[in-house]
Amino acid sequence: MKLVSFIFPIYNEQENINLLWETMQRVTADTPYRYEYVFVNDGSRDGSLELLNELHQRDDRVTVIDFSRNFGHQLAVTAGLDRAEGDAVIIMDSDMQDPPEVAMELLATWEQGWDVVYAQRRSRQDSAFKKLTASAFYRTLHSLADIDIPRDTGDFRLLDRKVVLELRRYREQDRFLRGMVSHVGFRQTAVQFDRHARHAGETGYPLRKMVKFALDGIFGFSSKPLQLISRVGFLVAGLAVIGIIYALVRRLFFPDQVVSGWTFVVITILGVGGVQLLMMGIMGQYLGRVYSQVQGRPLYSVRSILTTPGDQHTPSGEVHA
Ligand code: UDP
Ligand code: MG
Repeated sequence: MKLVSFIFPIYNEQENINLLWETMQRVTADTPYRYEYVFVNDGSRDGSLELLNELHQRDDRVTVIDFSRNFGHQLAVTAGLDRAEGDAVIIMDSDMQDPPEVAMELLATWEQGWDVVYAQRRSRQDSAFKKLTASAFYRTLHSLADIDIPRDTGDFRLLDRKVVLELRRYREQDRFLRGMVSHVGFRQTAVQFDRHARHAGETGYPLRKMVKFALDGIFGFSSKPLQLISRVGFLVAGLAVIGIIYALVRRLFFPDQVVSGWTFVVITILGVGGVQLLMMGIMGQYLGRVYSQVQGRPLYSVRSILTTPGDQHTPSGEVHA
């Protein structure tokens, strides 16, 4: 029987854990899979950890990873991905916003041969502010990002084991998992769902964390902000040349109207300003390369290799002795 892993990041979810667990047991009953539940306690300050420890004692399919402090949702999910052993791995929020029933739909779609099945929100029950900022963010990200990151999807998704293995090679610091999943590739599809309201407790994503998260998405997956420096640099340098020509023309043809020293000052300011911005654009290009080198993403991911049996090459290209 295939093993399915669930990853649940937990930050102050004491009022949700039992309901989540019961619902999971209900929807997974009489299904042809084995299950594993990986709970990651991300430095909760309430009774979440005690509840999780109880679950672990009651049920040996439960793994509890307890972080030393709050590292944030994306890192909690990463710890789960590093640990989960399932043939399919499902990432879900623990506040009942991601309905467990939909997880079963993701599994059904996975069985049709898809490697990534992400749950896409048809509707969501959140504050007007959250809806507005989220929709502005997804639109900006969509237009800026160098790869196609689907709109209106959170981290609620199913990943085939081969996708999880690839994701483990992505060790960048400022993590934006949904971008990384798009970057990995393979066969990806969406399942539509209606996102519920949080069952109990408060959001662990105050504005401060949301802004950081949005910036991680944009800076991690777009080089357009850097290209902007170059564009502005060219524009300003071009205007500076025009300004310098204008100053020289006035100095040469209308010398009586020009205050002494004006031409020199104007040429210096415009010249230095234009050159500075051009140089920053060049430095930006190098910085962009350094950044992507430091992110250290895999150069490519392989779906399969067709080769002749008996060939002594490993997928990485090394030759066996
Ligand atoms: N979460 C976490 N660490 C954090 C914040 C949130 O592990 O620092 C978990 C939280 O317990 C929940 C999921 O991440 O399971 C989504 O968080 P939340 O529901 O607070 O975010 P929202 O749905 O309001 O965007
Ligand atoms: Mg939530």
